[in-house]
Amino acid sequence: MRVAKNLVIQKFGGSSLATPERIKQVASRVVREKRKGSDVIVVVSAMGDTTDRLFQLAKVVSPNPPRRELDMLLTAGERISMSLLSMAISELGYEAISFTGSQSGIVTDTAHTRARIIDVRAFRVQDELNKGKIVIVAGFQGVSPNKEVTTLGRGGSDTTCVALAAAFNAARCEIFTDVGGVYTADPRLVPKAKKLEAISYDEMLELAFCGAGVLHWRSVDIARRFKVDVHVQSSFSKEPGTVVTAKENIERAEIRGITQDLNVASIEARGLDDPMRASEEILGKLEALGIPAKLIIVSSEEGRVLIVLPEEHFDEVASEMDSLGISNLRVDTEVATISVVGNGLCARPRIAKEVLASLSRSGLKPLAISTSGISLTVLTKRDRVVNAIRNLHSDLGLDSPS
Ligand code: ADP
Ligand code: ASP
Ligand code: MG
Repeated sequence: MRVAKNLVIQKFGGSSLATPERIKQVASRVVREKRKGSDVIVVVSAMGDTTDRLFQLAKVVSPNPPRRELDMLLTAGERISMSLLSMAISELGYEAISFTGSQSGIVTDTAHTRARIIDVRAFRVQDELNKGKIVIVAGFQGVSPNKEVTTLGRGGSDTTCVALAAAFNAARCEIFTDVGGVYTADPRLVPKAKKLEAISYDEMLELAFCGAGVLHWRSVDIARRFKVDVHVQSSFSKEPGTVVTAKENIERAEIRGITQDLNVASIEARGLDDPMRASEEILGKLEALGIPAKLIIVSSEEGRVLIVLPEEHFDEVASEMDSLGISNLRVDTEVATISVVGNGLCARPRIAKEVLASLSRSGLKPLAISTSGISLTVLTKRDRVVNAIRNLHSDLGLDSPS
C-alpha cells in the first residue's frame, strides 16, 4: 500500500455518533483535521445501541440465527452511520465518500461473527484520498475470500481502524470514545480510577483480553505487531487521552490496572481418563471455531478440565465437547473473572497475596487462579464482583487522591 502523506485515521464509537446532532459534531471535528492539511480516513461504529437492537431483533425471529445472516443484519448498523456522516461532512462544504468494509478491501477469514482480518486491500480508499476526499469506512466488517460479508466480533471497529492505520502507515491513529482514555479500571464502575498517560501494548492487550472493553483486544494485537501508536481520547472534550505504545516509552509501574469480565462462562468436565488429550482436542476445536479460551485448567490427577470462554459462545463449545465424547459437563454462566495487569507483577509475589486477601475481604472465593508474566486472573462467582473491584482498586493503592 502506498503511504498517504500526513494521513490521520480517526475512529468514532457508537456513543459519539448516537444522535444526528452528535454526527454533525463529529463531522466538524473531522473537517477541522482536514483543514490542517491532513488526509483523513474516518472509521465509524453503528449509532448508539443500534447493534444491540439489531441483535435482539434477530433473537425475536430466531433464537439461534445462522451466523451468516446475523452478519448481514449487524453490518447494516455501520452503513447507516457512515452514510449519515458523509452527508454531514458534505453539508460543511467538504467532499466525502463512505465505503462498506468490503468496498474498503478489509479481507477476513470465513468465521462469521468473529472473523479475523487477513489482508487490507484498500485501493479504493487510496484512490479517493488521492482525489482529496475524506474517506469514511464502516468499522467492524469485512469480506471473506468467498465474497461473504463478515463481522469482526463485538467492538471490532477499533480493529478496522488500527488495521487501516497499519496498512497505510498512518501518521496518527486516534480512537474517540465516551471516556477520556484508558484508566486504571473501568471509570464507570470505579469512580476513583485514574487516567493513564500511556500504556504498553502488552499491558493493554492483557487488559483488553481480560475484559476492558475500551479497546477491542484484536486491535491492540495488530497495533503491537505493526508498531502503531494508538491515541485513545474522549470525543466530547479536548483533553489529552492515553497513548498505547511500545514499552520503552512508558514510566514503569508494578500494577497498571485492573479489570473484570462478567461475560464469561465456565465449562468443566470431570472423571476424564486422559484430560491432557481431551484438552488438546478441545483447544483444536476452539482454534477451528475462532473462539479464544480465557482460562484453561487441566488436572491429570483429578481427570479434570475447566475452560473459561466468552459467554456468547458457550453453547457452541458445549456441543463440540459433546461431539468429542466429553460428557457430564458442568456449565456455569454465573461466573466472572477479575484480572490485575502490570509489567512488574511477575517479580512481586506479594501482589498476588494482596489481591487474594482483598477479594476475600470482599467475600469472594476464588474458583481458579492463573498467572502470566504480566497478569493475575481470578475466576469467581459473579455477584459482588463490582464491589470487590472497587475495594481491590483501593487496596492496591490505585485510587486517585480526589
Ligand atoms: P465505543 O462505542 O466508543 O467503542 P465502548 O463502550 O466500546 O465505546 O468503550 C468505552 C467504554 O469502555 C467506556 O465507556 C468504559 O465504560 C469501558 N471501559 C472498560 N474498562 C475501561 C478502562 N480501563 N478505561 C477506560 N474505559 C474502560
Ligand atoms: N457496532 C459494533 C458493536 O457494537 C462494533 C463496534 O462498536 O466497534 O459491537
Ligand atoms: Mg468499542
